[in-house]
Amino acid sequence: MECPVCESTRPDEERYCLRCGAALNPGHAVGSCTVVISFDLDGPSGMINRHPEFERQPSARSFGEYGPAVGAPHVLALLARTGIPASFYIPGWVAERHTALVAGIAEAGHEVGHHGYLHEPPATLNREQEAEVLDKGSAILAGIVGAAPRGYRSPSWELSEHSLELLEERDFLYDSSLMGSDAPYVVGESLVELPIHWSLDDYPYFMFGPADGRRLMASPQQVFETWAAAFEECHSRGAVFTLTMHPYIIGRPGRLSMLERLIHHMRSFSGVEFLRGVDVAEAVRGAFLSE
Ligand SMILES: [Zn+2]
Ligand SMILES: [Zn+2]
Repeated sequence: MECPVCESTRPDEERYCLRCGAALNPGHAVGSCTVVISFDLDGPSGMINRHPEFERQPSARSFGEYGPAVGAPHVLALLARTGIPASFYIPGWVAERHTALVAGIAEAGHEVGHHGYLHEPPATLNREQEAEVLDKGSAILAGIVGAAPRGYRSPSWELSEHSLELLEERDFLYDSSLMGSDAPYVVGESLVELPIHWSLDDYPYFMFGPADGRRLMASPQQVFETWAAAFEECHSRGAVFTLTMHPYIIGRPGRLSMLERLIHHMRSFSGVEFLRGVDVAEAVRGAFLSE
């Protein structure tokens, strides 16, 4: 079968084209779903990257430090309780300051992926700076968990024009920063893209800063309904449902219990599998190369 969009002869038989991510059989109810539960362990790195003075401000720092100190341990307990393998994307700056936590994440069987050094959005860097950040982050994570990360998620989902090429040059298996489909596809030679979207991220619903003029935070119930509806349609489409969360946001009381309820809700459907990003990407690359 040929993809009507990219004319690739290597599409998935019934759902999405592996080459470009195009929907191949709209309206066909597939009734299965792969779920990727993922966390960006940012701590205060993103805030400090955008506002360097925050590094010296205890209140601002504590807002982010809650993630590695309190949110992440509760997240790990939830994953252990529910038996779910997850993916954690960790800035090098955070990993250096929380080596035992990062080692524990890997020891528990979760994936440790790359997420910049001080949460630098690649689009704000030149090619050399971006390459330097990639190598520095990989070296720090490898030093802690014993292997270089195979997955990359760009800080703030702002890839540069060089990012995909730099990732392929460094033998990354996959990226998770693009929004082009509901299911993974291949960008470049064989770099897999595990797509994400702001609607499946805790940040737009729960982030609040009085100085930012942000609106009222959503209630956990509103987010449960939004994510459950998205999951149900992904299940019908045979998509990959990738949730992106931050321990300093989702780890707050009232929110993590909502995630646990959502996990039980998803488990009540047939054909649902919880996998780490690296495992999904491995299978997609294998299918793409074997055709
Ligand atoms: Zn295609
Ligand atoms: Zn981040």
